[in-house]
Amino acid sequence: MSGISPRDIRGLGATDIAAALRRRELTSVEVTQAYLEAIGAGNAGLGAYLTVDEQEALAQAREVDARRAKGEELGPYAGVPVAVKDNISTRGLRTTCASRILENYVPPYDATVVARLRQSGLVVLGKTNMDEFAMGSSGENSAFFPARNPWDPSRVPGGSSSGSAVAVAASLAPWALGSDTGGSVRQPASFCGLVGVKPTYGRVSRYGLVAFASSLDQIGTLTHDAAEAAALMGIISGYDPADSTSVPEPAPDYPALLGREIRGLRVGVVREGFGEGVEPGVQEALRRALDVLAGLGAVMGEVSLSMTTYALPAYYVIAPAEASSNLARYDGVRYGLRASNRSVTDMYGRTRQAGFGPEVKRRIMLGTYALSAGYYDAYYKKAQQIRTLIKNEFSSALQSYDVLVTPTAPSVAFRLGEKAADPVQMYYQDYFTIPVNMAGLPAVSVPCGFSGGLPVGMQLIGRWFDEAGLLAIAHAYLETTGWHRFRPEPAVSVAGEAR
Ligand code: GLN
Repeated sequence: MSGISPRDIRGLGATDIAAALRRRELTSVEVTQAYLEAIGAGNAGLGAYLTVDEQEALAQAREVDARRAKGEELGPYAGVPVAVKDNISTRGLRTTCASRILENYVPPYDATVVARLRQSGLVVLGKTNMDEFAMGSSGENSAFFPARNPWDPSRVPGGSSSGSAVAVAASLAPWALGSDTGGSVRQPASFCGLVGVKPTYGRVSRYGLVAFASSLDQIGTLTHDAAEAAALMGIISGYDPADSTSVPEPAPDYPALLGREIRGLRVGVVREGFGEGVEPGVQEALRRALDVLAGLGAVMGEVSLSMTTYALPAYYVIAPAEASSNLARYDGVRYGLRASNRSVTDMYGRTRQAGFGPEVKRRIMLGTYALSAGYYDAYYKKAQQIRTLIKNEFSSALQSYDVLVTPTAPSVAFRLGEKAADPVQMYYQDYFTIPVNMAGLPAVSVPCGFSGGLPVGMQLIGRWFDEAGLLAIAHAYLETTGWHRFRPEPAVSVAGEAR
């Protein structure tokens, strides 16, 4: 037995936990237990997890410990726990997408990323809260309960990967997987003071990720620092024959590339990032971050991405169009909820009426409209043309620069309820992140300080498949500034509002 207290275990972080496990100073059961206890104490107030898989997690941990005791060769992170967003399929473990329509859905198979986690010996603690079907930017669209920001529980953690960000920020998991269609890993990372990676489209298999907008969806990582991000990316990345959009190339050794030289790198500061609508506190934190990058020897320049303004409206045609098609399968026949047995059409109607929340219905209606005869050319085709222009603009900017920088989000975490009544206000949260998905590029949100006591995130955008370059800059920047070392006070549950 280790003598390391549960609180100290959670303070170590994924990399140090892995090292302690390898040195046999800790067992996976001790580590898993420490997190399960923390979840038991903290989850009611923060709403990070929808499902905690206590028994299975401990069984996995015991198995890793037994194999280590036998001297078996294990992966470097074997025995380290992880949290998984609830739109990523887990065999035998409820996967709800935070929707009533999938409330009792138990997948018969693991998503490829989950299979990879298990092959590496990681212990899945449970499934995290989110905006229903990953539609939202605050976590408030969960059909069950909202997650709360551990830095200030009266504020949202961002979304849609709300619970994954909360779990990591509040040390209810060492690290977590999320999904990012328009910013859903990066914006919550920014609001919770974490590193959030949105990989290049095709880098990580989408097999088993419940589809929202298939041409934009990508699974990504939420961690405290860049080294952990590199490690977790290494585990989940790579070709998968089960996903025809995954690229048939092995992923590079991310952790080995973290030390890449920053001196001489050309950094393009995106002018629009300092435009109207970006909070002054966010702009200030970002300016200081740019000074640090210059101090590390990066060659700074300025670039305009004028197409950025069109990305949001084009996304809100393309993403709902794909969603309206992807979500047609929830009809009461094959999955989850069935609300009537009277006739087929009655069953479809009632099931979807009762099973989907308001934002999901809004998207289905928008998407169906955009795809309908007569409107297709005016909306969907136009949006696809804009998408090409966005891609071209990035492509030429990334010829002059190795990396582009924007704020991740225009603001710090806002209050629960503050934007819930105005969907367009909510959509503006993704102003800087959506263009990246439209182009299929990789991007990382990196903590870059605080404004009014709340974390600010800087977005680094790189060339296609250059996640390694982005992680190297993030690593050098964080080692210099130490912004990733701050932790919220153990969050107090909000009086009267614990579920
Ligand atoms: N907030 C955006 C939306 O609501 C992006 C969501 C996401 O990336 N999954 O569509």
